[in-house]
Amino acid sequence: MESQSPPSRITSSTSEPEDESGPHRPRLTTQPYNQTVTADAVQQIASAEFPTRWGTFRIYGFRAESDSNGDRGVEEAVALVMGDVHSAPPLVRIHSQCLTGDVFHSLRCDCRQQLEMALAMIRDLGAGILIYEQQEGRGIGLMAKLQAYELQDAGLDTVEANERLGFKADHRDFVLPGQMLKALGVSRVRLLSNNPDKVEALQLAGVEVVERVPCEVEASPHAEEYLKTKKEKLGHLFSS
Ligand SMILES: [Zn+2]
Repeated sequence: MESQSPPSRITSSTSEPEDESGPHRPRLTTQPYNQTVTADAVQQIASAEFPTRWGTFRIYGFRAESDSNGDRGVEEAVALVMGDVHSAPPLVRIHSQCLTGDVFHSLRCDCRQQLEMALAMIRDLGAGILIYEQQEGRGIGLMAKLQAYELQDAGLDTVEANERLGFKADHRDFVLPGQMLKALGVSRVRLLSNNPDKVEALQLAGVEVVERVPCEVEASPHAEEYLKTKKEKLGHLFSS
């Protein structure tokens, strides 16, 4: 890796006081899902060898200053890269952080199962890329996700709960993953996803999706309602 002066510390420009309407009122945004946002070029912060249960990857840290939703923020994400990802479009999974699933093995969602399936598929192929984005709860943040769980315990589904809290059903865009892939020299991918919007979002971010590979896991009984909602309200594709 070329020598680089360490990145200057980013001073937060988003330190304005919390929305006066109350601590539980999330900021509303009017930006439609998938709209292209302007973002500065992504910066590779680090790259290191990374042995895991699924074999040895190389882990890359990336940072980008983004200008999404009208306020500047810093986004960070990592990419786990295994094998040759350049001679053919590699298998790519874009995973959004889920503390409850990834760390605590929650059965309220299928995030951890999908994460493990993606890593196992990359291991089996001997090549692929997993991008891990820090976008908890489909972009709404950890505390709001827990509030949404509370609403779901009261009978709302995941989409209704997010809307009750003032969020769109899905709060993500895929500009940063697109930039990271391009920084890794990858412009054509086989995307491991059940979500057709992700295909479209990644193409908008300048990465060609030559194939969508389904990522279906066995649902735990706790996650059945959640997966049903994903299918019926968020347009995720499942074969059964
Ligand atoms: Zn989850």
